[in-house]
Amino acid sequence: MTTNRGRKDVIRDRMAATGESYNVAARNLKAMKDMGATREARLIQRWQPAESLDVPCPCGGTCEPGETCDHCHARHLHVRRYPGSVTDVEIWADRYECTGCSSSYTLTVRLAGRPWGVAETVVQGGSAEEVVRARVFPGVAHPLLRPEAPETPEED
Ligand SMILES: [Zn+2]
Ligand SMILES: [Zn+2]
Repeated sequence: MTTNRGRKDVIRDRMAATGESYNVAARNLKAMKDMGATREARLIQRWQPAESLDVPCPCGGTCEPGETCDHCHARHLHVRRYPGSVTDVEIWADRYECTGCSSSYTLTVRLAGRPWGVAETVVQGGSAEEVVRARVFPGVAHPLLRPEAPETPEED
């Protein structure tokens, strides 16, 4: 987490380098950061499960070893990762499937600094209530939220 002061220094550096105004420099820096985070979030999600337990998990080694199955005593394998919260963008869910039977389970993991989207506080409705709303990075599949898509007319 960068402090506000650190962030302002980065913006001033960019202003000095590019001659942009404060607001333009801030917007461009944010866009660059979002783009990098988007690319990383897609990589966190896009991998194929390992073919056996003898090779390192292709998710990048950020998962727990699969547990031994209670039913068939084979091991579980990490098969999928997807956003695991609708408001906390660093929470991911890991799905494990047994290599010997149809048993499966899901673990929640926090990947600090590797968000699947951006959490924003928005003021809602007439009561002016502040709520946290998460925006999913484009290209990331969220089981409960839709990614931000370019505006297209609804066909129905
Ligand atoms: Zn894994
Ligand atoms: Zn099993």
